Amino acid sequence: MSELKLTSRSEDFSEWYNQVVQRADLADYAPVRGCMIVKPYGWALWENIQQALDRRFKATGHVNAGFPLFIPKSFLEKEKEHVEGFSPELAVVTIGGGEELEEPLVVRPTSETIIGYAYAKWIKSYRDLPVLINLWNSVVRWEMRTKLFLRTMEFWWQEGHTAHATHDEAQAETMQMLNVYADFAVNDAAIPVIEGRKSESEKFAGALRSYSIEAMMGDTKALQAGTSHNLGQNFAKAFNIQYLDRANELQYCWTTSWGLSTRFIGAIIMAHGDDQGLILPPKLAPHQVVVVPIFKNDAERGPVMEAVERARSTLAGADLRVKVDNRDDLTPGFKFNDWELRGVPLRIEIGPKDVAKGTVALARRDTLRAGKAGKSFVSQDGLAGMVADTLADIHASLFDRALAFRKAHTHDPKDYAEFKQVLEDGWAFSWWCGDRECEAQIKEDTKATTRCLPLEQPGGTGTCLHCGKPAREKAMFAKAY
Ligand SMILES: [Zn+2]
Repeated sequence: MSELKLTSRSEDFSEWYNQVVQRADLADYAPVRGCMIVKPYGWALWENIQQALDRRFKATGHVNAGFPLFIPKSFLEKEKEHVEGFSPELAVVTIGGGEELEEPLVVRPTSETIIGYAYAKWIKSYRDLPVLINLWNSVVRWEMRTKLFLRTMEFWWQEGHTAHATHDEAQAETMQMLNVYADFAVNDAAIPVIEGRKSESEKFAGALRSYSIEAMMGDTKALQAGTSHNLGQNFAKAFNIQYLDRANELQYCWTTSWGLSTRFIGAIIMAHGDDQGLILPPKLAPHQVVVVPIFKNDAERGPVMEAVERARSTLAGADLRVKVDNRDDLTPGFKFNDWELRGVPLRIEIGPKDVAKGTVALARRDTLRAGKAGKSFVSQDGLAGMVADTLADIHASLFDRALAFRKAHTHDPKDYAEFKQVLEDGWAFSWWCGDRECEAQIKEDTKATTRCLPLEQPGGTGTCLHCGKPAREKAMFAKAY
């Protein structure tokens, strides 16, 4: 499979992406158009993402639960903006067990409504608050234009749902989870992100305020990589989520929801990948290190495999995820290409000369160079420490590279003409009035949307780059996935 060269990113980024997803063995197309089969290598990556997030959710006091796939259709109709937002994307079940159902069921597009139903039953008093629950599940949205990981009809994700006594507590929770996502993106995925608030037209259907982390992909488009919503009392009022406060008065709760999905795998592919294929961030890679044995005959095989096994057990003992590629019928060169395509951060080669010298060769995926120049030779003693340090260095260099790329493609255009021009190949950070119609006109002119109003603002005020009206904040504009 590695015989064929990948389409280069500059030639056709979208085609490059499709080829990487399939040839790196991450996912495949399903018989139902728009659905996705996640293959074991892709799922292993998702499991590492899950663990990295779940650890953070638990550390901030959340617990996991399971909620049903089916939701009575009437539930979705209870919150007006929510039903308007999701109606076009719903999959509805009308027949069950061969009989027409009295009430149609929707396959969950997200679980706010059924959560609302349950929380209304569970929450009675201020003593029951806050409720901090997360779900790991899949949801269905009937998408017309799909692309593996980025937009599929069914996708896997987590959805957090919390209920609080006050607006301020709900707002603090919303910001806490946004920060959790940013921390995960930076420290586990090596992807720099902009944290910000969504504009009114881009916010979640039924939310008071929505926030997102936005990342720049290798083609300079933006990808919304995680969202956190302060739902205000909208769902609490629609579902009667009420509690008795300390003064014994009935109050509505304030709720939040927040989610990050398998779409994030698309972000990893597009933020770090190169013309040779995937580059996985070491902390999330299913295999952090692959060991390739090199020998020409049976006499060499024995001592080489002995050294390989020693290296494997040393690394595994240091909690590193290591894979030995002992496939017999393939050349080392083929294996090198194969693991480079699949993005393994670090390769170890061990041959007869290494056995004699007590060394191994290390080849980094992020600074791929052909032949000897791309390798360093290190002693087999202290290998685990050396590998751990190198992986940390790979993480840092992937992050630095992605950040430098984003900075080089983020502009502060002086007028609307320049604004339109920079959006062809980058982001614009510009003063914006906040007006919905102004935003729609910009979108029509440039195909770019407000990604967010970044939390980090320059201060002061300005004038809207498009309409000239006073502006209190700068927005990040970009074409997006
Ligand atoms: Zn404007």
